[in-house]
Amino acid sequence: MKILVTGGAGFIGSNLVRHLLAETDHEVINLDKLTYAGNLASLADVQQDARYRFVQVDLCDAQAVKTVFVEHDPDSVMHLAAESHVDRSIDSPGDFIQTNVVGTYHLLHASLNHYQQMESPRRDDFRFLHVSTDEVFGSLSMDDPGFCETTPYDPHSPYSASKASSDHMARAWHDTYGLPVLVTNCSNNYGPYQFPEKLIPVVILKCLQGELIPVYGRGENIRDWLYVEDHCRALTRVLQKGTVGETYNIGGNNERTNLDLVKMLCGLLDELQPAADGKRYEENIRFVTDRPGHDLRYAIDASKIARELDWRPAEDFASGFGKTVRWYLENASWWQDILSGDYRMDRLGQKA
Ligand code: NAD
Repeated sequence: MKILVTGGAGFIGSNLVRHLLAETDHEVINLDKLTYAGNLASLADVQQDARYRFVQVDLCDAQAVKTVFVEHDPDSVMHLAAESHVDRSIDSPGDFIQTNVVGTYHLLHASLNHYQQMESPRRDDFRFLHVSTDEVFGSLSMDDPGFCETTPYDPHSPYSASKASSDHMARAWHDTYGLPVLVTNCSNNYGPYQFPEKLIPVVILKCLQGELIPVYGRGENIRDWLYVEDHCRALTRVLQKGTVGETYNIGGNNERTNLDLVKMLCGLLDELQPAADGKRYEENIRFVTDRPGHDLRYAIDASKIARELDWRPAEDFASGFGKTVRWYLENASWWQDILSGDYRMDRLGQKA
C-alpha cells in the first residue's frame, strides 16, 4: 500500500513516517510545504529508504496537490499538515485559515477525484484519515468527564476554530460525497522532534541554556499528555481497522497541571544534567501573563478506541518523559540548528 502523509516533516508527521516505514511494509509519500515547522532533518535516517518519497507542496496550491495524486497514485491519505501553534494563531490567524481550512479543502477535493477514479478492489480499501485535536471541544471544568466522540464542538482559539472547521469538512465529504473518511481527535503529544516553541521542548531547552522558564498564568491549566509514538500506533490502527465515517478520540490518561509538568521536567534534568551553578532548575520558573482565551482543562475519554480497536497507550508518564528528555540531551545538534535558524538554509547557504 502507498500512503500519502501530509505534514510528514513536522513533529507528529516525522514520527509517523518513521513508524510506518519501521512497522509496516507500506510506501510513504511525504507531502509537506516545509514551513518554519517542517524540518527534513527530522527524517534524516529514512531519506535513503526506497519506500520513502518527499514532495515539497503547499496544500493551498490546488493544482500542485492534484498533481501529487496523479503522479503518486496513493492508496490512502493521512492528513496531518497544519499550522499548529496556538500562540501563532492569535498573532496571525490568516495562515491558519489558509492551511487548515482552505488547504484541507484542496486535499479533500483532490482525494475525492482520485477515489472516484479508482477501481475495485483498490477503491474499497481507500481511506482518508483526518488527524485533529481535542482543542476543538473547548474547555472543561475540574470535575467534568473527559471529552468523548459526541461532545459538542466549542473551539476558542483561531487554531482550534480552524481545526474544527476542517473536521466538519472532512465529515461532510464523507456524508455528502461518500469519501471514506475517518477522524481522530487527540490530546497533547510529546516526544522526540517537537519544535522548540511548544511547552515541553521550551522547558527542556530553557533549562539546558540556563534561562528563565516561562509558565502562563499560575500554571494551573490542565492538559492530557500522550507520547507521540503511542499516537502514531493509534493512527495506524484507525487507518487499518477503524470504521469508515467514525471518529476516535485518542488520549494518554495522563492529566497534569502545567506547573506540575514543568517541575517534573526540571526534576528529571536535575538528575540527568545538573545545572552548572548547582541550583535546582525549578528555581528558574517565572509566571508570565496568561494567553488570551486560555482553556482551563482538556481531558480525553479514550474508551471507544480501546474497546473497538484494542488500542491503549504503552508509555506511562515517567517513562515517556524520561525518554523525551534524554532524546533532547542526545540530539543537541537537531535543536541547535533550529535555534540558530541553520535548519532553513538551502543548498546555496541562504535562509529560506
Ligand atoms: P507541526 O507544526 O509540528 O507540523 C506541521 C507540518 O505541516 C510541518 O511539517 C509543516 O511544514 C506542514 N505544513 C504546514 N502548512 C502546510 C501547507 N500549507 N502545506 C503543506 N504542509 C504544510 O504539527 P504537529 O504538532 O506535528 O501536528 C500535526 C497534526 O496533528 C496537526 O494537524 C495538529 O492539529 C494535530 N495534532 C497535534 C497535536 C500536538 O500535540 N502536537 C495533538 C493533536 C493533534
